[in-house]
Parts: sequence; structure tokens; C-alpha cells
Amino acid sequence: MLNIVLFGPPGAGKGTQSERLIEKYGLVHLSTGDIFRANIGGETELGLLAKSFMDKGALVPDEVTINMLKDEVSKHQGARGFIFDGFPRTNAQAKALDDFLAELNTEIGVMLALDVEEEELKDRLLKRAKVSGRKDDSDPAVIQNRIDVYKKETAPVKAYYEAQNKFISIPGTGDIDEISARLYRAIDGLNA
Ligand code: ADP
Repeated sequence: MLNIVLFGPPGAGKGTQSERLIEKYGLVHLSTGDIFRANIGGETELGLLAKSFMDKGALVPDEVTINMLKDEVSKHQGARGFIFDGFPRTNAQAKALDDFLAELNTEIGVMLALDVEEEELKDRLLKRAKVSGRKDDSDPAVIQNRIDVYKKETAPVKAYYEAQNKFISIPGTGDIDEISARLYRAIDGLNA
């Protein structure tokens, strides 16, 4: 199996690039943000809970997120691999993912981290708000909170994968196709 963590701050382009990667490598895309939003749309209990955190730009509690992620992975038995997009966002999530994948006799192959500077992220999120209608994209205070939470709780997850020699940083600015090409080269280089 090929299991990839696609990492990066809010607005780094994880969703856009995930779509290309799943197509090229035949992987299943699991975006925790998308799954939460689908639950909000469906007015499920999980959605109601998640919404209260997401609207503020806070993280949904680990236990809730981890259990949801495990359920989603279990729905795709026989998958060639997964792209985890927006997960893990804390070291506790990273550890839980490792343990869970080990139970399934597989593991994370690589963390690909899209690197984009903060001013560019804010610009992109405000632009996205106009088309996505996402509440958490339209309020500069919420965007700032998401970036702060990223720096404090999520950025340390890099070190978790660095310690396993699985971390690759990818410049996330410039032409979208060129960024995809950088990701392809990193993935194709894994077994070379
Ligand atoms: P972005 O990466 O643009 O911030 P996402 O769609 O990945 O957007 O996430 C939107 C929100 O969903 C986050 O701000 C957070 O509230 C919640 N969320 C998504 N993934 C996780 C996660 N792994 N752990 C906790 N909360 C999460």
C-alpha cells in the first residue's frame, strides 16, 4: 500500500493536490475537513459537535477525530492506499494513526509537506471564501486562529515524521501543475 500524509497549513493547497494524486496513483482521499463538512451538511450529531469547533477555527477534539478517521479507513478495505489530508493535525493523532495502520499491517510511507508563507495563505483563504462559502474562510480573525493553531499544535507533527525519516518538504507556491510535478517526483523517488 501507498499511504501518504499530505501536510501543510490551512490554504496550502492540500485539497487541490490531493485530487491529482488520487487520480494518478489510484488512492483513496480522506480529508477530515471534508468529512466534517459532510456531517455538518447532513446535520448528524458528529456534524453538530464538529461545527462548534470549526466555526471558531479550533481543532475538533482528538478522540472524536481519530474515531471518525478509523471508521472511514475501515470503509475502504482493499484500497491501494490512502491520502490523509488534514490528518494527523496533532502528535496524538499521528501516534493513533501509526498504531491503527500497524493493526492493518501497513504504515505511512511519507509525509509530503506543502510549504507556503503566511501572507500568501491568508490571501488564498479570503479568495476561497468567495467561492466556497466556508464560514471559517471569510473571517480574518478565524483565519488567524487557524494559522495560530497550526503553528502551535500541528506544525510539531513534522518532527514526528522527521524522526521516522519520512518527512519531505515541497515548495507550495507557483504554478499548480509544477507543484503537482514536485509531489510526483517525491513519490516516484520513494522506491528509487
Ligand atoms: P484547512 O486545512 O483549510 O484549515 P480543513 O478542511 O482541513 O481546512 O479543516 C477545517 C476545520 O476542520 C479545521 O479548522 C478543524 O476545525 C477541523 N479539522 C479538520 N481536520 C481536523 C483534525 N485532524 N483534527 C481536528 N480538527 C480537524
